[in-house]
Amino acid sequence: MLQAINLKKTYSDGTKALEDVSFNVEKGEVCSIIGPSGCGKSTLLFIFSCLLRPTSGKILINNIEIKKPFKDGALILQDFGLFPWKTVYENIAVGLKIRRFKRELINNITCSMIKNLGLEGFEHHYPKQLSGGMQQKVGFARVLALNPRILFMDEPLSSLDAISREKLQNFLLNIWLKEKLTILLVTHNIEEAVFLGKKIVVLSPRPAKVLKIIENHNAGDINYRSKIEFFEKCREIRNNIKLKVI
Ligand code: ADP
Repeated sequence: MLQAINLKKTYSDGTKALEDVSFNVEKGEVCSIIGPSGCGKSTLLFIFSCLLRPTSGKILINNIEIKKPFKDGALILQDFGLFPWKTVYENIAVGLKIRRFKRELINNITCSMIKNLGLEGFEHHYPKQLSGGMQQKVGFARVLALNPRILFMDEPLSSLDAISREKLQNFLLNIWLKEKLTILLVTHNIEEAVFLGKKIVVLSPRPAKVLKIIENHNAGDINYRSKIEFFEKCREIRNNIKLKVI
């Protein structure tokens, strides 16, 4: 469904962020992209979401080259992107309002998001009254309300503490099990990449090249973290990253 073909990106100041990046993501697959800090992961995701143009190479979605934001795609960033002056309800409804949905439909979708994401009782709270984990849930709800088919996520859980992070990883897994969205997840956290990604693309230090594409068939199991295969897969990835850095 998603294809990166020979992507290269050099910024105007000469910084080379992507050297030559190619890989495919199947429909309904979660693909983790992992690599050292500053290697070009966000650059790659911004190119996928058409917020940046590559210097050369292309992105295909369903075999068609994409040059402007894909209407069924949504980008989720690390800092939640909530409006501090809007309530939970208003933050979730904002995308629907921009798309000029009818008032009744906005209310139905927003209420069902609040229910499905376990935000009942917090509808009239403001972001600063919520924990980081709940704020990110509101961020997810706002995006999911628009019913995207592809999610591009740039370190969406990295500002959370370890316990909230695991809870939200489980939450994301449950969303994926239910909706079978295609997800491109950028992370620098090896355990997160392995828990969620059926496919794991390991990038080199900047400028990013694909070092290895690892299949991870056991991802999608909520109990995966406590299995020996999980630790082995984490070790495999750690070794791939470490070898290259050394
Ligand atoms: P990552 O997400 O892996 O941390 P980024 O994609 O954010 O990496 O950045 C890759 C490299 O490109 C870094 O060295 C960063 O400083 C550089 N970079 C990012 N944006 C720009 C820009 N607009 N102009 C110049 N260099 C940039």
